Amino acid sequence: MQMWRCTVCKFVWEGEEPPEKCPRCGAPKEKFEEIPEDRVKLIERSRLTNSLHTDLHSLLSRIVEVCEKGIEDNLDPGCIKIFKESKEFAEEMMRKIKAEIEVHIAKGKWG
Ligand SMILES: [Zn+2]
Repeated sequence: MQMWRCTVCKFVWEGEEPPEKCPRCGAPKEKFEEIPEDRVKLIERSRLTNSLHTDLHSLLSRIVEVCEKGIEDNLDPGCIKIFKESKEFAEEMMRKIKAEIEVHIAKGKWG
């Protein structure tokens, strides 16, 4: 599969030809450059893990919501401790995922 990148906004397009206009910023076709084959392979190889990172991030944000409800309900100290520790863990993992995704973007493992 060929891929093209908008040089204005970095939007990635898949297809034999670049689009007439960038769907994101409206830049004309001429503003697209073809992504070299080795870079395309790297993007394709990284897609499953990138998608798993975003799924995991959503699940962790759901954990944060559950914990916040539990903390608010404030039944007893044992429960509060579990909700607070779980919330901290989920927030820390969410920060790690964001950092990892930034590394992927910087290394061309995103698109
Ligand atoms: Zn664009």
